Amino acid sequence: MHNQEKELKLMTRLFYLIFSILLFLLSSFSLAVTLPPHTPVPGGIAVIPLQELAAPRMTAVQFNNKPVLTIKNQQQWYALVGLPLSIKTGEKKVELTTIKGDQLSIPFYIKDKKYEEQHITIKDKRKVNPDKLDMKRIIQEKKRITDAFQHWSDRHNNNVNFMLPVEGRQSSSFGLRRFFNGQARRPHSGLDIAAPQGTPILAPAAGHVILTGDFFFNGQSVFIDHGQGLITMYCHLSIITVNEGDEVKQSDKIGEVGQTGRATGPHLHWSVSLNNARIDPALFLTEKK
Ligand SMILES: [Zn+2]
Repeated sequence: MHNQEKELKLMTRLFYLIFSILLFLLSSFSLAVTLPPHTPVPGGIAVIPLQELAAPRMTAVQFNNKPVLTIKNQQQWYALVGLPLSIKTGEKKVELTTIKGDQLSIPFYIKDKKYEEQHITIKDKRKVNPDKLDMKRIIQEKKRITDAFQHWSDRHNNNVNFMLPVEGRQSSSFGLRRFFNGQARRPHSGLDIAAPQGTPILAPAAGHVILTGDFFFNGQSVFIDHGQGLITMYCHLSIITVNEGDEVKQSDKIGEVGQTGRATGPHLHWSVSLNNARIDPALFLTEKK
């Protein structure tokens, strides 16, 4: 063989090597997501590595007998478990059925977290102490809202990297222990972003609109299902620009900021729910504000 031919062969091999390395890097890059931080506190998320390398079957990983979200990041599978504000400290378990059918249980520990108090004055007293007719409406609405938060779909979308749905000042953080006109009420289960009436609200990640409506406390609201029990809710809208059943992409407009329902001024109340636990939306934001 001539020297030139040898050289050409070597060059071709080198080219293929570099090309395959580039391909590998590109494919592993596209699989990389930013996982939310492991925050085993009330209102946080437990991020639990799963021993099995192979994909767990959908709904095979459970917490309190309910399926939880599973996600792959750099060749490793994780369970993301939403922890409600009402959860007690101490040992909890994630139950897992392996591909072979064995039962595995992975323990994790909940630590305490103290949230601040917030006192709010509401002029419309019915929004603090609803009358009989209001209560009837509230109970009916609560069922629809709970059903939406409990919605499970086997969509394997890795949309755990959210953008802020509205540009604005974060006026009330998640978890605040609330008092309306001096009376203790449920803690703040979302994040409030103050913005002028009419400011567009954008989907923070792709998903499926599962519920829209006008509710007593929440005002005009939109619910988006992002798959595997990850649901987001947008409240107090002046107008809703999507319909139930719509598919939305990240940054699609879903409505505009308003102050419908129980609100002291125009703002977006944004809730994020994981396995029916309302958790701190800031945990899913990739760009921290
Ligand atoms: Zn709020």
